[in-house]
Amino acid sequence: MGKTKKVGSTGRFGARYGSTIRKRVRQIEEKSKAVYKCPVCSVKTLKREGLGIWECSKCGEKLAGGAWEPNTSAGRSITRRVTRIAEGLKEEF
Ligand SMILES: [Zn+2]
Repeated sequence: MGKTKKVGSTGRFGARYGSTIRKRVRQIEEKSKAVYKCPVCSVKTLKREGLGIWECSKCGEKLAGGAWEPNTSAGRSITRRVTRIAEGLKEEF
């Protein structure tokens, strides 16, 4: 295999799926492999354990977060939406 300059980890897809999709996959993969700051002990040791699961190797805290990063803007807007739906249900019953 040749070098995968520019396309990074998505070089394995070759020319398949189109460059826009490969670019997005690459961003996601780089995000999911990055180490984030733990919200409990504030040390940069938060690592992705599985889909939506993040674990801090310092304090052992396990938390649910975004699938690819601990906090996503999508996650925040979903939380808002769910809260609003829950409030709407309260009013209905
Ligand atoms: Zn921690």
